[in-house]
Amino acid sequence: MHPFEKAGLGVAPFRCVGVYKNAYQACPGAPIQPGGSCDFCGTGIMYEYKILSSDGKGFKVGCDCVMRTGGEGAVAGMRTERLKMERDVRRARRDAKYAERRATHEQGRIAALEGRRAAFVAAEPALAAALEALPDNGNEFLVKMRDAVRHWGSLTEGQLKAAKSCVARDASREAEKANSVHVGTVGKRLPEAEYSIVRHTERIDDRYWPARTSHWFLLKQGDNVFVYRGSSNLGAEGETVRAVFGVKDHTEYQGTRQTVLQRPTFRKEPEPKADDVKRAAPYGAGRDLSMTGEC
Ligand SMILES: [Zn+2]
Repeated sequence: MHPFEKAGLGVAPFRCVGVYKNAYQACPGAPIQPGGSCDFCGTGIMYEYKILSSDGKGFKVGCDCVMRTGGEGAVAGMRTERLKMERDVRRARRDAKYAERRATHEQGRIAALEGRRAAFVAAEPALAAALEALPDNGNEFLVKMRDAVRHWGSLTEGQLKAAKSCVARDASREAEKANSVHVGTVGKRLPEAEYSIVRHTERIDDRYWPARTSHWFLLKQGDNVFVYRGSSNLGAEGETVRAVFGVKDHTEYQGTRQTVLQRPTFRKEPEPKADDVKRAAPYGAGRDLSMTGEC
């Protein structure tokens, strides 16, 4: 007779229907103790093997008692349940170890990132502050750079250069928006003054012969913004031009007040064009007769 049967736990044969962990921990950090007890011997057990007798009685025992009584062979399914449980325990242990290693690695990564970020803020305080002050719907490129700093802790040399000039451009645009005022009176001429050439584009209009070149200039004087469109070439970007302009209009572009200029007269003409010379110079002066074919 099987000892379980003798102990009144039911009629043999017995069948194992599962194993459950029953652990008890008084408080976090305290040792983990068995939470259950064996119905056969009364010892505290952590892993409760649920056994069913052939007459339908259920009870729980530790695996040691199964081994000591009839062995695993005497309880159907016991071996399978034990192996399954042991596999689960191994897996849980392995997962815990991986998680710990990952956490350690993540801590190292975060520490390194923080270090890089601190170095970046120390090296580029103005840029770092400008990036962090950026709204999420701000300049798309700068938002990308801000996220790059957050993620990598720094920028590449190329990104750094581009981000700096972009921030500078945004700042000067904001200053223009706030400070640029309309200058002069529409229809009147301004006194001679110096303007810095911010941007210059030219378009060749070949509806005419010879083709005409029309220029577009964005000029600045302090925070004041000026626009000139016409046939005169005032100079190259980055240069300054000293001229008298007429005021054609006072407009606003994307919130910035602009003074539209017209009909410039220069004290010092830029490189004269061939037909300018022809028109402007007194007869014969400055003309290369051998080239005109008029002799
Ligand atoms: Zn026991």
